[in-house]
Amino acid sequence: MKTLQHWIDGKLTPLTSTRTGIVYNPAKGEASSEVLLAELDDVNTVVAVAKTAFVSWSQLSMSKRTAIMFNYRELLNQNRLELAEMISAEHGKVRADALGEVGRGIEVVDYACGIGQLLQSPRSEDVSTAVDSYTVRQAVGVVAGITPFNFPVMVPMWMFPIAIACGNTFILKPSEKDPTVSNRMAELFTEAGLPDGVLNVLHGDAVSVNGLLEHPDVDAVSFVGSTPIAKHIYTTGTQNGKRVQALGGAKNHMVVLPDADMGQAADAAVSAGYGSAGERCMAISVVVAVGDVGDRLIPEIMSRIEDLKIGPGLSEEPMDMGALVTGEHRDRVAGYIDAGVTEGATLVADGRGLEVDGHPNGFWLAATLFDHVKPNMLIYTDEIFGPVLCVVRANSYDEALELLNASPYGNGTAIFTNDGGAARHFRRNVQAGMVGVNVPIPVPMAYHSFGGWKDSLFGDTHVHGSEGVQFYTRNKVVTERWPDPHERGVNLGFPTTD
Ligand code: NAD
Repeated sequence: MKTLQHWIDGKLTPLTSTRTGIVYNPAKGEASSEVLLAELDDVNTVVAVAKTAFVSWSQLSMSKRTAIMFNYRELLNQNRLELAEMISAEHGKVRADALGEVGRGIEVVDYACGIGQLLQSPRSEDVSTAVDSYTVRQAVGVVAGITPFNFPVMVPMWMFPIAIACGNTFILKPSEKDPTVSNRMAELFTEAGLPDGVLNVLHGDAVSVNGLLEHPDVDAVSFVGSTPIAKHIYTTGTQNGKRVQALGGAKNHMVVLPDADMGQAADAAVSAGYGSAGERCMAISVVVAVGDVGDRLIPEIMSRIEDLKIGPGLSEEPMDMGALVTGEHRDRVAGYIDAGVTEGATLVADGRGLEVDGHPNGFWLAATLFDHVKPNMLIYTDEIFGPVLCVVRANSYDEALELLNASPYGNGTAIFTNDGGAARHFRRNVQAGMVGVNVPIPVPMAYHSFGGWKDSLFGDTHVHGSEGVQFYTRNKVVTERWPDPHERGVNLGFPTTD
């Protein structure tokens, strides 16, 4: 079986690690390779490499850094399909969805190509007599990025293109469930002219993550993953003096008002609930049906569920939904379906027991729909992260808004309505970081920033966009006077602005 090594200092290396993790082909339900899991000594090695590379990379001219970013963009575009197929092979999502993910990742590289403009800072002349003052933004140093399994290309690209364009060096610790594509992203960056040691990929589990969090030469940590781990990353990282942004889990609600177009709302609920088998942090997992919406919307959703094609992500015939990432995760999601039935929700579509021709061992689960879900049920309170959509019925818009705002999560949300006033009230008062109005998955473009509120984000800055640039740089304010041959004299008073 193939063993995936780390990508350190511009080449593949096993370092000292001997422990391995299994990587599965979810459609076949069998191991496809193994990945090395780094030890603490390996963390020390990669941090030293990144620290050394920082000295020259952070001082390379902006035009040379920008030229490398443009080359990288070109190479990524040429290799979109290869990257997408690498994702599908280990994640299970269908090719078209993986291509979409790659596209959204490349948008961040597009944005980072404009780094010259993004790093421009204010300057004030004559702040005092013959004194000028200006701000410069400088790179933070060595940045670690720890990422989840569900977007193995897009989420790392939320981080490293901007961090690197700003002049930092980067250590990516990708998910051990679908690690292969990270090495390819790094290899393409080397091909684009990135000096060795600027982007490194360290494969591993909690051992390497905790090593990075405690290492004195790691200056900043970007994390995306589940809420309990995000909390741990934020607490441990900040205790160790690092700047940290840690994006956590989600339970995204979509409110449907009685005046909405039911066909459009059903299209949105099915696309956002079951796309990528529900393994998206911006997936809709709860539909809040206001008034009589439930009775009208559920038949529309059911007719669409019946038409979904489920099968291998890389099959020639395009599929709508692929397998879940591992057998363990599929069983956990199926366990939530059991719990929903036990707790008394109405199971309208049951995804358990799906069989796919020619792939008897794949990690399959079909689209599942619950109606009459109550806020105290596990299927409502927990992030399931699978193709399970829950309908909660609310008597009024106010009741729906109250329900949403009581959730501990605040990642994304959406409202479907034709009433502009209601939409405006919603976007003004809902407690979530990303809001869609008749848009079910409101993932911001690269030039806006992505992030949630409450337990969906620990830290002060969202990722990419201007907040990404802010996170990966530090301000330095320079106050400057050049000696005027006409002026001399000692002044012990506090500097004033005369
Ligand atoms: P996860 O939290 O299990 O893993 C994320 C990363 O943390 C991985 O690299 C993993 O190796 C590492 N990790 C796991 N356990 C650890 C531990 N005990 N100590 C230190 N590091 C540890 O998440 P996942 O299952 O890979 O991804 C799914 C989760 O990510 C969902 O909760 C989803 O909502 C969330 N997510 C959030 C966003 C967002 O933008 N808010 C985006 C994508 C995914």
